[in-house]
Amino acid sequence: MRLHDLGEFGFIDSVRRFTHCSRADVILAIGDDCAVIETSSGDRLAVTTDAMLEGRHFRLDWLTPYQVGSRAMTACLSDVAAMGAEPCFAFVSTALPPRMEVEEAENLVRGVVDQAERFGACLLGGDTIAAHEHVGLDIILLGRCREHIWRRDGACVGDVLAVTGDLGGSAAAVAAKSAGLEGIPCWHRYAAPVPRVAQAAALNSLGAITACLDVSDGLVQDAGHLCERSGVGIAIRAGLVPISEETRKVAQDLRSDPLTWALTGGEDFELLFTAPAEAMPELQDAAGIALTVVGEVVPGSEVVVTGEDDQPLALQSGGWNHFGARS
Ligand code: ADP
Ligand code: MG
Repeated sequence: MRLHDLGEFGFIDSVRRFTHCSRADVILAIGDDCAVIETSSGDRLAVTTDAMLEGRHFRLDWLTPYQVGSRAMTACLSDVAAMGAEPCFAFVSTALPPRMEVEEAENLVRGVVDQAERFGACLLGGDTIAAHEHVGLDIILLGRCREHIWRRDGACVGDVLAVTGDLGGSAAAVAAKSAGLEGIPCWHRYAAPVPRVAQAAALNSLGAITACLDVSDGLVQDAGHLCERSGVGIAIRAGLVPISEETRKVAQDLRSDPLTWALTGGEDFELLFTAPAEAMPELQDAAGIALTVVGEVVPGSEVVVTGEDDQPLALQSGGWNHFGARS
């Protein structure tokens, strides 16, 4: 069997099956946005790592090295935010082709450092290796957990499913750039996404969120992770999914459906969470950003998206899967 048959998530499942961690200080191992470990002083640390490769995850004719570094850091910050944790310590490993300009290489790491520092974390080390051709980077980020650790496995039947901000902007930007459009209104959503670190801090103390993850692979696919880990089904109403005016404008220009981007586009880096419906007003008061209920947690095991007429929508692709291209 080839990796593209097994898929990214099938592969991660295999890895999970041959790990046997029985240490008492591991609170959460493979399968969430971060692992969580407990130190002897009782602190709980959330740890995540994310790798990005030129040509696969970014193009240096679309983004500056600084933006590439900053985006890569954002992916990690978003995972730490998804645990409700506070970003603290970062490490970056870079694979750099020797022909690369020193200034560009420095700017790549400067992007990592500045984005980490913007959100309260600092870079403490890493590794540097030579690459044949393509630039690669891998970031490890540690965060300090707050009172409530937001896991993927806590969603309860009856909870609502809600999302911060809006969705599809990053996928819209990529579609517009690929089509050769200039002056793309939502380009910043792809080039300089903002991780929801501050919102996580504001929401955590309320204790109302039952499960959370960040939208990195696409709403439907990421909601699927909640289903799988929590043993529930999720019903999403397409008509409720928040889409910005900027994203709608791009869809108009390209004669595309913005809903497809919002449901299946990746790298929005919004928080997707479940909570009791009655907690939504106080969550909204604290959030400092629009929260939108997009569905609810139901008995079952999968994600169903319904359209205007309450009929299930047939989706062309579920979201991002690193080996299968689109699942
Ligand atoms: P996210 O999109 O939140 O970064 P991923 O889908 O990349 O999460 O990963 C899901 C889980 O699988 C995480 O717990 C991650 O640490 C784990 N994981 C991914 N790849 C590997 C690997 N090669 N070995 C071990 N664990 C992995
Ligand atoms: Mg994540």
